[in-house]
Parts: sequence; C-alpha cells; structure tokens
Amino acid sequence: MTYKGLVPHFGLPGKSAGRAPDFFPCPGQSTGRAAAAVLSGFAAALAVAAAALIAFYPPPSTFAALYPPQNNHVRTGRFAGIACNGVQCRLCPYNCFLPEGARGRCKVRINYGGRIKTLVYSQAAAVHVDPIEKKPVYHMYPGSLIYSLATPGCNLSCKGCQNWEISQLYPEQAPRRVSVPSALEVRFLPDGRAYGEIRSTETDSLTPEDIVKYALATRSKAVAYTYAEPVVFYEYMYDTALLARKAGLKNVMVSAGYINPEPLAELLPLMDVVKIDLKGYNEKFYRAYAGGSLEPVKRTLLELKKKRVLSEVVNLVIPGLNDSEADLAALSAWVKENLGADTPLFFSRFTPNYLVSELPPTPVATLEKARAIALKRGLKFVYAGNAPGHPGENTYCPKCGKVLIRRYGFAVLEDRLTPTGGRCPWDGTKIPGIW
Ligand code: SF4
Repeated sequence: MTYKGLVPHFGLPGKSAGRAPDFFPCPGQSTGRAAAAVLSGFAAALAVAAAALIAFYPPPSTFAALYPPQNNHVRTGRFAGIACNGVQCRLCPYNCFLPEGARGRCKVRINYGGRIKTLVYSQAAAVHVDPIEKKPVYHMYPGSLIYSLATPGCNLSCKGCQNWEISQLYPEQAPRRVSVPSALEVRFLPDGRAYGEIRSTETDSLTPEDIVKYALATRSKAVAYTYAEPVVFYEYMYDTALLARKAGLKNVMVSAGYINPEPLAELLPLMDVVKIDLKGYNEKFYRAYAGGSLEPVKRTLLELKKKRVLSEVVNLVIPGLNDSEADLAALSAWVKENLGADTPLFFSRFTPNYLVSELPPTPVATLEKARAIALKRGLKFVYAGNAPGHPGENTYCPKCGKVLIRRYGFAVLEDRLTPTGGRCPWDGTKIPGIW
C-alpha cells in the first residue's frame, strides 16, 4: 500500500507554523545601511544555524497547519497547557510546544486558536476483526475475536515499524473512506458444518457508537486499540472504551507505553488488558531506533503493575539491534523484578520492514535463546511470537509443565484453561488472566 505524498517526518521545507521571532528588526527601523547589512548577515547566519539545528534536533513540527479546522474529525484534545506564544501538549513525554497552527510530532494533534485539537477523532485508518492471539494477547479469552482499530499517527518513529503505513501517515493522507467489519454471518457447508463470514460496510466516520455496535454484531468479545499507537488518538479511544465497557465488552490497549502519567491514570480504569511493546532494554537503542526514551515506558509498566491492570509485554527482537544476550537478560531481569514472574513476556520475530528492510528476519534460534534467558530468570510465561508451530507459542503450567493452551499461529488448537476458569486441570495452579 502506498500513499501519494507520503513524506519523511523531519526536515521538510515549508512554512513554519510558528510566528517570526520578535527580535528580528523591521527593515524600515534600521539605523543605516551598514547596520542593515550586519543585521541581514546575522539573520542569514542565524537561519543557517537554525536549519542545521532543525536537521539534527527537529522541533515538534516543521510543518504548516495544512489541515482544515472544519474537518469533522477535528475535536478538542485534552491534556494541554498554555505556554509562551502557544500551547503545550502534555499527552505524551514529548510534551510538544506548539505555536499557533503547529502540529505535534505524532502528526495528529495541532494548535488551532490556542487550543489543542485532535485531528483523528472517528477517523479509523485500519479496522479488522482479529483473533485475539494476533494482538498478541494470550491471557484473555483464548480463541476469541477482537474488534481492532487504529487511526493514522504515532508519537514514535521506529525504523522497523511493522505497521508504518498507518503509523507514519498524516491524517490527510489516509483514505477518506474505509471498509469496516459490521456483522458476522453464520453459514453452513454442504456437510452441515458451520463457519462465520465477516460482512463489511464502508464509512468515512467510525464513531465510538459504531464501534460498539459492530463489535457486538461481529461477536467480538473486546475492542482493541492497536496496530499503530492508540495514545495519539486518546480521546477517541477513551470515549469508545467507556461505551464498550457499558456494553459488556472488554478493552485492550496495544501500545508502546509512551504516555504521561496523568492521561494514563484516567485511562487505566477502562482497560482490561494493556499490551506494552517494550522495544529493548537499552536507552541508546531506544533513542536511535524509536526516537523515544526507555524511562517513560518503564514508568508506564510500573503504573500498570501498581494499578493491577493485567499487562503483557512484547519485545520485537531485531537482528543486530537489540538481540544481544546482555540486553535480553537485562530486559528479562527488569520484568521479573519489577512486574513479577507471572507477567507474560513475548519475544517476537522481526520481519524486514520500513527503514531497516535490509536486515534479515530474526532467526528462530535467537527467539529460543531469548526465551531460555527469560525462563532461567524465573519468568513463568515466556512466548515466542510470529513463529507458527513453535512450542514457545503454548501456555504451560509453571508447576507441572503440562500444556494448558496449545496454539498454532493465531489458532487455538486446545484450551484447558477456559473450562476450569484459569486453573491447571492437573494440579490446580491458578494462571493469571481473564478466562
Ligand atoms: S501526543 Fe505527544 S507527540 Fe503528539 S502532540 Fe502531544 S506531546 Fe506531541
């Protein structure tokens, strides 16, 4: 899938959304030609220095506000403060300062008239009914369907993003109309066996009410905010989660965890499972690969633990970037010591993508090494992700070692936990999760 006009995030030429700096003198006020020449030379040098600075340390937005404020996906955003000559978005740790008309690093939040606006309310860019194993979430309703959606935009810029065609998209680049699953029809094969077929409808606005209606009609047990980064469509996610909870659906957020404490605290009571993509355990790698920082993600994970929200952690293992034994051991140790041995931890296989398409896929042996390290550290539920048929896809009883859930890819072949309410049928060990 390609989008016309897709542009790199940084360094675009174009009108800056900010005001001209106040300290540039107006030409008519100069005291003479010599002074004007000095000043213009100074201004030129300043412009060159600023351009160099922007190239290395891009500000939150180097774009003009090209987005029409009357667009029906524009809504008032939350978590913002007034700052000098603009506003500061405080939704995520970037805390972007936005002069009038400027857009945040996530591409989907903007300062219009001194107020933060989200540009993607009800603007779903990808909507599917997935097996819950695809999230991957392994400790809630195995084998169930989950209504999954994303808007354009992301606050990180991972070089190997597996969903970059959504995450790196500007809202105005997204297709106006999208196909969304709207019902599940039960059909029968000639031999009498039943199967389900998803029906779809096209829309240019998928409201929270629609999502709940379609999730119920497709027999989904939960709604997932996923694919790209749900933090950047916070208001849309929050309103949907509220309605979904009232309708008896569960809520699952699949996120990189790059969010500030206040919005996280308001959101967590609505979330049943939070899946955090912990990209590595190395600050240098986080900055170079994702453009973010490890500390805020750790803070999010600790908050999930404190608030007793069921969380699962996934680490995408990328050859040569974050697959050293030292990093894998440090990550496993931190999860065990801070989140507990019961925390499900996935080591997922990377496939070449986006800006690191020259790298090879993760060898299965590396996933096995990572898994062995984490199991040795004492973690009880360690999985191999994106490795269909690998024994590391199964859930084992940590006490007797028997298979409790047998999987193949996104399919559940055998489930011994749901009928027992989450207890091992052989020795009664309680397995954390929602069963
Ligand atoms: S969500 Fe984050 S990246 Fe987006 S505008 Fe707010 S602070 Fe900036």
